[in-house]
Amino acid sequence: MTTHLDPLRYATLSFDCEVKSLYTLEDGLLGVVLDRTAFFPQGGGQTGDRGTLGDCIVENVEIRPQGTLHLVKNCEETVQKLAPGTHLHAEIDRDKRFSDVQQHSGEHILSGVVHRLFGYRNVGFHLSDQEVTVDFDGILTENDICKVEDLVNEAIWKNLPIRPFFPTEEEKDRLCYRSKKDVEGPLRLVEIEGVDLCACCAPHAARTGEIGALRVIRSEKNKGGTRLWILCGRRLLADTRQKLEQNRLVSTLLSAKQTETAAYVQKLRDEHLALQYEATGLRRRMLQAEADAAPVRPVQFAAVDTDPDTLLFFADRLAAKAERFAFCCTAGDDRRFILLTKTDFDLQPVMQRLRERCGARGGGRGGVMQGSLKATEAALRAALEL
Ligand SMILES: [Zn+2]
Repeated sequence: MTTHLDPLRYATLSFDCEVKSLYTLEDGLLGVVLDRTAFFPQGGGQTGDRGTLGDCIVENVEIRPQGTLHLVKNCEETVQKLAPGTHLHAEIDRDKRFSDVQQHSGEHILSGVVHRLFGYRNVGFHLSDQEVTVDFDGILTENDICKVEDLVNEAIWKNLPIRPFFPTEEEKDRLCYRSKKDVEGPLRLVEIEGVDLCACCAPHAARTGEIGALRVIRSEKNKGGTRLWILCGRRLLADTRQKLEQNRLVSTLLSAKQTETAAYVQKLRDEHLALQYEATGLRRRMLQAEADAAPVRPVQFAAVDTDPDTLLFFADRLAAKAERFAFCCTAGDDRRFILLTKTDFDLQPVMQRLRERCGARGGGRGGVMQGSLKATEAALRAALEL
């Protein structure tokens, strides 16, 4: 059984220990059991601490049937260095711990505020290196979220103490606290005075000021409730830096003020759509003129780089100059095509040859067939018997 150092505060980030046992696990990992540890093991929706045992890197810590396992890459060197009985110095990755502490402590305040304002419960929490999500069992509108954000940040700036404690039996009965599930083992409560009281066994900040700030960066309806994506402190700074840089670049490209980029992009988009509409009209007039000028032939063949609607328009005009049918396709090897006749010519045998020789997919009825195929122009002409 591993002794957990300092389970109240998790202030220990560096300690000496002895390897008790070593397990070979799946995925090329070793599971190291120590006599004592200050690593936080994965649980409650968040990954475990990372760090080092001697010079071996601990990638995660998990509680498994064998015990609290410090997961290390399995290789000849680590097997030797982590043999049972070895005395080692352990270091917890302070940056990862601090980042997790900021997100997790921010989540406490957020959940406390949402519960107080709307009575919703936190029913899911996920904290990884990539994202932080919190699920509530009620609907939060954009306005609600702004209000919550304001109150959460007010609580952060008050720099309130975050107090973890093991309550007495009397306190357990008297106190009203949030709890996601029935707690196994000794109950540990975390109090942020006037904001939240919650059962939790993870590491937290000592005071709310360490969280820095919290923002909800995205929200979605989720199973009748709301999922919020949040960022706190250092992660929020990195995210903001990246997004502001994007906006700065867009602003420079558009010669627009940084607070007016969206309006400029909207204007550009409208102009782009209008030009696209005009270009389609011109293209159709050109193709129409080309079709009208074409001499009458048994079969009309054309490969043009255009959109599906214009392709159909062109095939229709060109078929008027075909004794049998018109075949129009887009340029390139991956082509859309249209087979069209204005007479009672049977297109089925032509379509069959396109399927067999050019891998054509698609179909149709009457005088129009369409689909996609991959073939060179020469292969197409051969299949069409041109
Ligand atoms: Zn907690």
